[in-house]
Amino acid sequence: QHQAKERGRRYFLTSDAESGETPLLQLESDLHQAIARQEFFVLYQPQRALETQRLVGAEALLRWRHPERGVLPPIQFIPLLEETGLIVEAGRWVIDTVCAQLAAWSDAGLPLRVAINLSPRQIPDDGLVDHIAECLRRHRLPSALLEFEITESLAIRDPERASTMIAAIRSLGCPVALDDFGVGYASLEYMLQFPFDAIKLDMSFVHRLVETPVDRAIVRGVVTMADALDKRVIAEGVETARQADYLHALGVDEIQGWHVGKPMPPADLIGELRKERQRTQ
Ligand code: C2E
Ligand code: MG
Ligand code: MG
Ligand code: MG
Repeated sequence: QHQAKERGRRYFLTSDAESGETPLLQLESDLHQAIARQEFFVLYQPQRALETQRLVGAEALLRWRHPERGVLPPIQFIPLLEETGLIVEAGRWVIDTVCAQLAAWSDAGLPLRVAINLSPRQIPDDGLVDHIAECLRRHRLPSALLEFEITESLAIRDPERASTMIAAIRSLGCPVALDDFGVGYASLEYMLQFPFDAIKLDMSFVHRLVETPVDRAIVRGVVTMADALDKRVIAEGVETARQADYLHALGVDEIQGWHVGKPMPPADLIGELRKERQRTQ
C-alpha cells in the first residue's frame, strides 16, 4: 500500500482517496482496459521545412481519454505503461493507428511523413520490427513515410541493442531520429556513431537560443556535424518567429512547435495541409 502511494506520487501530487484523485492501483487497472475500450488516441503536431516553408511531416503524440479524469498527457501514464509492460501493447497500437491514418492521407493524395516515439521499454520487444513491417504491408505504405524517434538514454544504456534495433528499423526503409538531443549526457560525437537519419534538437536549446550566444554556437556545431554526415536536423519546441528565424539562419532543416502548430486531431492537420497545398499551387 505504502509502495503504491510512493509510486503514485510520481504521477499525481496526491493519491489519497479523500482528495478525489484516482488511486494508482485503480489507474493501473484502468490502463489494462484502455486499449480495449478505445480510450487512447493520437494527436499530430506539424513539422515545417525552413527552406521551403512547407509542412513536411508530423509527430504522433499519444493521449489517454480517461473515463473520470479526462484527457491525460503522456507524462501521466507512459511511465505506468512502461512499469507494467503494457507499453509493448500500447506501442503496437500506436504504430497500427498511425499507419491507418497515413494510408488514409496517402489515398486522399496528401502523403505526409509521421514520426512515432519509441520508449526504451519497447526495444526489447523482439516482435517490434516484424510488427512494423506487417503494418506497413497491411496498410500498403511506403516505409519512408513512417519515422521513429528514440532518445539517447536507450543508446547509452544498451548501445549494442540500440544499434541493432536502429539498423533493423532502417532496413525496412523507415528513418530513425534521435529525440531530445542535448538534454542527456552523451556527446554529439558519441551519438553520431549511431546510424540516425535525423537529430531532434531539444527545446531547451531553442528557448535559450535568442538570448545566449553559447547555445547558438552549439546549434551551429550540431548542424555542421549533421551536414557532414548527411543527417537532417529538426528543432522542437519552437514557439516564436524569432526562434524560427535564428534556427533558419543557423542551417536547421525543420521546425516543430507551437509556432508551427499545436498537437492536433488528424482532421485538423489534413485541413492545414490542404489549405497550404491550395495556396502554393
Ligand atoms: P517528445 O517526443 O519530446 O514530444 C514533444 C513534446 O513537446 C510533446 O509533449 C509536445 O506536445 C511538446 N511541445 C510541442 N511543441 C511545443 C512548444 O512549442 N513548446 C513547449 N513547451 N512544448 C511543446 P507531449 O505530447 O506531452 O509528450 C511528451 C512526451 O511523451 C514526448 O516527448 C514523448 O517522449 C512521449 N510520448 C508521446 N507519445 C508517445 C508514444 O506514443 N509512445 C511513447 N513511447 N512515448 C510517447
Ligand atoms: Mg518525440
Ligand atoms: Mg523530443
Ligand atoms: Mg543540412
